[in-house]
Amino acid sequence: MRRRRIDFSKFSSIKIGPVVDVAVLELGDRPLENHYLVGSANNLLISPTPPPLMMLGRDFDYIKLDSDRLTIGAATPTGKILSFCKRHDIGGFEFVAKLPGTLGGMLAMNAGVKEHETYDTLLEISTENGTFSKSAIPHGYRFADLPGIAYEATFTIERGFDGRLAAELLELRKNQPKEPSAGSAFKNPPGDFAGRLMEACGLKGMRRGNMAWSHKHANFLVNLGGGTFEDGVTLIEEAKKRVLEMFGVKLETEIRIVDAVFA
Ligand SMILES: Cc1cc2nc3c(=O)[nH]c(=O)nc-3n(C[C@H](O)[C@H](O)[C@H](O)COP(=O)(O)OP(=O)(O)OC[C@H]3O[C@@H](n4cnc5c(N)ncnc54)[C@H](O)[C@@H]3O)c2cc1C
Repeated sequence: MRRRRIDFSKFSSIKIGPVVDVAVLELGDRPLENHYLVGSANNLLISPTPPPLMMLGRDFDYIKLDSDRLTIGAATPTGKILSFCKRHDIGGFEFVAKLPGTLGGMLAMNAGVKEHETYDTLLEISTENGTFSKSAIPHGYRFADLPGIAYEATFTIERGFDGRLAAELLELRKNQPKEPSAGSAFKNPPGDFAGRLMEACGLKGMRRGNMAWSHKHANFLVNLGGGTFEDGVTLIEEAKKRVLEMFGVKLETEIRIVDAVFA
């Protein structure tokens, strides 16, 4: 199996992580035991000592259009999905504008914006354990219990591309910090916003080393340049503690912490 040397301090969106060899799975390869699967590392905080890593290769980067269905390989980047949908006048993926990642990451996270989510138009996902319809896969807000590694997924096409919706959702990104991050660090608790609770606890702008809770949006853990995994985790733990003490709310991380200890 091919291996790819990746410097996660450059590859990951939050610009943290070691240089490691990652196993690259192509069509026909068996997934490796005890390996953590990486998409394009836009939702990950990777420790200096991660578990062994694997990722899907170019064989899983494709989009097939078949009248009322769209079949997408799990290594396909979101930008490619968006431009394909625009070009072919397909609706349902407008929300992926500036939502960085691959389809695999979107399926694992049920990524979305506002009320628009990956599972909205999903029909089925193929994995190494077979093909599963949406109803057989437990999923919800920023959550999915995938029955294996997502290789590809099929979606229904219900309408044309909605340029106005895409522009509206893009507008929401204006208050997003520009520094490297992994998106929202915590999921919103039911009926509330993690950012609001964090701001009320005085976390907005809090800094530890070169990591900080953004001045612009309290729920974004940002790397101010050369920030470390340890400082990131310390800020996450501090936020959990303060929000629990002040509001009795247990914040759940949306960011995935990838460390051999947690593997
Ligand atoms: C600036 C910024 C803005 C963001 N905005 C949003 C937003 O608005 N909404 C939102 O939901 N997210 C947002 N995110 C988070 C991120 O874009 C999504 O979670 C995205 O889906 C991650 O995709 P990825 O390929 O990078 O996955 P990774 O970060 O590499 O992995 C995420 C999870 O998916 C799993 N995974 C990856 N591929 C597969 C596969 N083929 N099969 C099974 N599991 C797999 C991994 O094991 C991991 O647990 C943002 C991130 C950034 C940096």
